Amino acid sequence: MEEKLHLLGCEKEELEKLVGELGEPRFRAQQIFRGLHQRRLDAFSDFTDMPKAFRALLAERFATRKLALKSRYVSSDGTRRYLFETDRGNPVETVYIPTESRDTICFSSQSGCALKCDFCLTAKLGFLQNLSVGEIVEQIVFVLNDVYGIGNETPYGTNLVAMGAGEPFHNLDNLAKAVALMSHEDGLFIVPGRITVSTAGVVPKFEEFARLEKRPNLAISLSAANDPLRDVLMPINTKWNLDQLMRAAFDFQKTLKRGERFTFEYVLLQGVNDSEEDASQLAQLLRKYRLRRAKINLIPHNSAEPLAYQAPEAESVLRFKKTLENAGVSAYLRRPRGNDIFAACGQLAAREIALAAETE
Ligand code: SAH
Repeated sequence: MEEKLHLLGCEKEELEKLVGELGEPRFRAQQIFRGLHQRRLDAFSDFTDMPKAFRALLAERFATRKLALKSRYVSSDGTRRYLFETDRGNPVETVYIPTESRDTICFSSQSGCALKCDFCLTAKLGFLQNLSVGEIVEQIVFVLNDVYGIGNETPYGTNLVAMGAGEPFHNLDNLAKAVALMSHEDGLFIVPGRITVSTAGVVPKFEEFARLEKRPNLAISLSAANDPLRDVLMPINTKWNLDQLMRAAFDFQKTLKRGERFTFEYVLLQGVNDSEEDASQLAQLLRKYRLRRAKINLIPHNSAEPLAYQAPEAESVLRFKKTLENAGVSAYLRRPRGNDIFAACGQLAAREIALAAETE
């Protein structure tokens, strides 16, 4: 069977070409785009502004959904985790995180991940597949429908973070297209300033990212301020070391507009990278490379079998933060969310599969 084209991954121009080929006027493309992205409809039968016969033809030829929901977990703190499966049978996880002021949706750019960060559960899956543009957008559309209902407008202030499974810079083309679609004013209208992409440090991709027309915010996962430790925690460091990464960050910093900042994420691991000495080293690193627009997000490690690390005691976390602040670095503490349902950072891995892989 021929694979159906995923319409959620199509730009308006592509839709215009498609409807033209089907002998329909151009404005149908706009109707389809709005129906899919703004109203978040999933069945062509609900596109009541289009002729019935045309809707039937669309349904026959194209897909509006490709991810199959396998499980949905709701945490005691309101966080929701969704486990989907692609048409190739690979797991995809998405997390919805509500707070008083705004909602954040944490989405995946890949199924599994090729990087081998030692403290991350997704790493145990290995790389399974890149997600298509449609599969990226679909995660957001699905979550918004689950939370707000089909057809209801996306509330202003929803943030998106590419911090689920996968390395976004290993799937940058699709990710960039998805960002352009999700920020479209006739669609979800989640502007790039409310979208953050997190990379483990795929240095050669920084320039391409910096040049994106619809450029989201950048977060860089650091987690160690010296090469020997970072080599162990994040083996990508043996390919592009801290000096290369910090230079790339500096070049990126130059492209920021007034008032814009970027982020370093630092996963705190008890007894590994959480001492005052580590914090001073981190502050020194930022100073050495003149990364004045950088802020640090501290993420106490979320443990999960079979990961060998633990989060530090609250006291050491605060001491670490204080040391950074005293050195003039802005540091923020990320509260863990949804860890009772394995929805927190680094816990996404279709747990069952990750555990099985470990015992093989
Ligand atoms: N590959 C990208 C994006 C996915 S990971 C990256 O590395 O940035 C998103 C964030 O979660 C990263 O900062 C990563 O370091 C962090 N993380 C991974 N495993 C974690 C864990 N077990 N506990 C806390 N944070 C974790």
